[in-house]
Amino acid sequence: MTLEEYRKTRDFKKSPEPFGEAVKIDASRFVVQRHQARQLHYDFRLEREGVLKSWAVPKGLPINPGVKRLAVSVEDHPVDYIGFSGTIPDGGYGAGEVGVWDKGNYRVLKWDTKEIAVVLEGQILNGNYVLINTGGKNWIIFKKT
Ligand code: MN
Repeated sequence: MTLEEYRKTRDFKKSPEPFGEAVKIDASRFVVQRHQARQLHYDFRLEREGVLKSWAVPKGLPINPGVKRLAVSVEDHPVDYIGFSGTIPDGGYGAGEVGVWDKGNYRVLKWDTKEIAVVLEGQILNGNYVLINTGGKNWIIFKKT
């Protein structure tokens, strides 16, 4: 989903979240934000092509190999969002507390519509992670090594 879709779901007069722009420099940072919304989840975001490609991971990313977690593709977020911590006000989309849980850099090993393989170099998450599309917005994520 696109950045426009992200903006449509939010009222930037009420929410402190960045409005943001797509940027041209292609860096390769990632972030995992802990998001205490109505349901606690973790938002996994990879900087790519000027936006943050994003998934909501209800149980969080696995730290060890052998654990598979559901990851639901959500709308791209602006790159400015990468450092965002704060409170999304009541009544807004995703209302609740957002905090950075882990961040770092990543490298792409494979990126297509069905499979994404990356190497994460974070404070908590390190190693090879694979996302497999299981249909529609649903993916599974696991640590390979
Ligand atoms: Mn979220």
